[in-house]
Amino acid sequence: MPSFADLGLSGPVLRAVTRAGYEEPTPIQAQAIPEALNGRDIIGASQTGTGKTAAFSLPIVSTMGPSTKPQVLVLEPTRELAAQVEDQMNVFGYYKPMNVVLIHGGVGYGHQIEALETKPDVILATPGRLLDHLEKGNLDLSELKYLVLDEVDRMLDMGFLPDVKKIIDQCPKGRQ
Ligand code: AMP
Repeated sequence: MPSFADLGLSGPVLRAVTRAGYEEPTPIQAQAIPEALNGRDIIGASQTGTGKTAAFSLPIVSTMGPSTKPQVLVLEPTRELAAQVEDQMNVFGYYKPMNVVLIHGGVGYGHQIEALETKPDVILATPGRLLDHLEKGNLDLSELKYLVLDEVDRMLDMGFLPDVKKIIDQCPKGRQ
């Protein structure tokens, strides 16, 4: 099994991984991270608890640069999952601070609209509410570089396919 240092991650991300107490990559991390850093599109399947969140987050945090528009969109089936990914993203971004914004249903729009005006780098969202914001013109995905469909089987089981398709249509063709 390779070490984290063998995978090609940036210095700040390696330091954040050490700070998080991770000693070695899990199998899905060892397989996915080098491919993601090479710009490949990836489909990953592994059980809950095997480190998929870090498998997609570490290469994204490692390679994202400054921008005035969102670069990363992670779609999640539930707000609880979106909040968990937010926690991990903030851990991995400890030495490379990013503006991460959480968007989900079941709450008012006001705070979310204000958050979207703060020029987020990363948006973690459930599909329905994200689409509402897109349709209202509250955010612009024209410079998106990375799109993640997390727990996609669950998202499709929950009937989010039409929303997910409409969101993908608004993302640039060249995104990873
Ligand atoms: P996940 O499968 O992404 O939900 O991750 C499950 C848990 O494992 C989370 O608490 C992560 O912080 C932790 N984790 C992920 N990757 C590693 C690793 N390489 N070493 C130790 N813990 C990890």
